[in-house]
Amino acid sequence: MPRPITAVIHNQALRQNLERVRQSAPNSKVFAVVKANAYGHGIERVYDAFKTADGFALLDIDEAKRLRALGWSGAILLLEGIFSPQDLFDCAQYQLSFTIHNEQQVEWLQQHIYPAQFDIFLKMNSGMNRLGFKPQQYRQVWRHLQRLNNVAKITHMMHFSDADGERFGQAGVDYQLTEFESNIQDLPGERSISNSAAILRYATQLQSDYVRAGIMLYGSSPDYPKHTIQDWGLAPSMSLRSEIIAIQQLNAHQSVGYGSSFVAEQPMSIGIVACGYADGYQRISPTGTPILVDGIRTRTIGRVSMDMLAVDLTPIPNAVIGSEVVLWGASKIGSILPIDDVAAASGTVGYELMCGVTARVKFINQDEGNHHVTF
Ligand SMILES: *Cc1c(COP(=O)(O)O)cnc(C)c1O
Repeated sequence: MPRPITAVIHNQALRQNLERVRQSAPNSKVFAVVKANAYGHGIERVYDAFKTADGFALLDIDEAKRLRALGWSGAILLLEGIFSPQDLFDCAQYQLSFTIHNEQQVEWLQQHIYPAQFDIFLKMNSGMNRLGFKPQQYRQVWRHLQRLNNVAKITHMMHFSDADGERFGQAGVDYQLTEFESNIQDLPGERSISNSAAILRYATQLQSDYVRAGIMLYGSSPDYPKHTIQDWGLAPSMSLRSEIIAIQQLNAHQSVGYGSSFVAEQPMSIGIVACGYADGYQRISPTGTPILVDGIRTRTIGRVSMDMLAVDLTPIPNAVIGSEVVLWGASKIGSILPIDDVAAASGTVGYELMCGVTARVKFINQDEGNHHVTF
């Protein structure tokens, strides 16, 4: 039998989360963001659930080709645009839309003399200061692109730095939106502004033609701990599951694992789980990180090692070798440990955990029928 660690991808949860995007942005077309191999889920594994989206957004042309190979004939948007002039041949052949965010990309487009019709998303840097043209430059670039023969359509695009409510919150969103709107208000063309945090938190204020939904599709709350997935009506789409492979009885003052970082205060029963940092579980996760055994919430203890970690079995006296362990996601009987709870305990975000599951973990898809996760 293979080592018991498995990442289960829940098709019904993916569908439910996409539906939640539609509910929050009923007048927008929805790009399902599937960069980083669908946030670690696998593009081929999420495709069936997401093929009712209006388009897909990602970064790598190779991932775009995988979508075409699956039969997707709709829109695909490259969020960082092209990385070389040669990429334009792929964009033409595979009909990929792409962001234009710097002068170099404009030049490449202008110098591309082969017949093609590109849909481009012109990005304004409205305050994030990663990609895009400054508001003062934007109109000039737009006018220039407008005149190129190989540009069919230009959509106006921006990205929020603070839609999740950190630091500037509403004031930050207002500021960026004003920068954007005041510079393009009289220009024709569609608009694309919102990520998951903006879709959920600013549903009424922000209306645009295309939303770009990422993390919410995968059952993680963009503004945890202010709101949980339960608050937002999202369902975990990935469950990292394993099993107890050994049980130890500790006496008071005995320790477990490298560095003896956890020492028992009283006699206790502990379980050893087949999951470690070589599976993508963060080594930095401290004693006390939440975890489920047989659907019951308990805590990790001691240091996470390469292939194993230890759990406190005090709340699960009936646990045996082979008992189910959920590192994050849902247990077979439906108990839920949101990925955000585990991420927060480890000083990171759900994004990083789901993207970090390693190649040695077996992935499977599961259809749970038609029921919604209700908590
Ligand atoms: C990743 C990304 C998104 C999706 O963000 P989430 O927070 O995951 O919803 C949207 N827009 C751009 C430009 C991105 O790079």
